[in-house]
Amino acid sequence: MERGPLSSTSLRSVVCVLPTRCPYCPADAPRHWIGWGSYERYSGDVEDPSQRVAIPRYRCKLTRRTFSLLPDGLLPYCGERTGLVLGWLYALCVQRVALSTLSRTERVARGTLRHLKARFLRAVSVLRLPRREGVWGAAPFLEALAQKGSAVIAELFRVWKEREPKHCIVGIYVR
Ligand SMILES: [Zn+2]
Repeated sequence: MERGPLSSTSLRSVVCVLPTRCPYCPADAPRHWIGWGSYERYSGDVEDPSQRVAIPRYRCKLTRRTFSLLPDGLLPYCGERTGLVLGWLYALCVQRVALSTLSRTERVARGTLRHLKARFLRAVSVLRLPRREGVWGAAPFLEALAQKGSAVIAELFRVWKEREPKHCIVGIYVR
């Protein structure tokens, strides 16, 4: 099943990346945050679901609020790696693979897939791809995304995560 860059290995990376901005202040504000410890979360490893990774936390010196930036392979409030999640959504929404079939071939619980798809359908209307206006349906959005290289996709997600750390495709959560 061809899902191209959506299921690439770079979108499964749990290597931490440094933030380029603070989500509480204007994007072009000079660096004004400091390291503020870390927290642990599950790494979304399908082979070993109990595996955890340390995610560095930062503190904005102006608002005194903390934030962090998840690695490219992880999404907020999502137990699976980014590349897998996007590949599954592509299969369900674009390739129209039946949920039960995908559940069997990918060895993932049907409830997990159903939940992901529902959350994605709710979030897709507020996501904007660069230089594209308007609201997208799930399938056109994923098709447009799949045409970009994995580095571009990773960068896009990084920008979304940095701007709104709790709002990212399936992890949407309005502050
Ligand atoms: Zn700030």
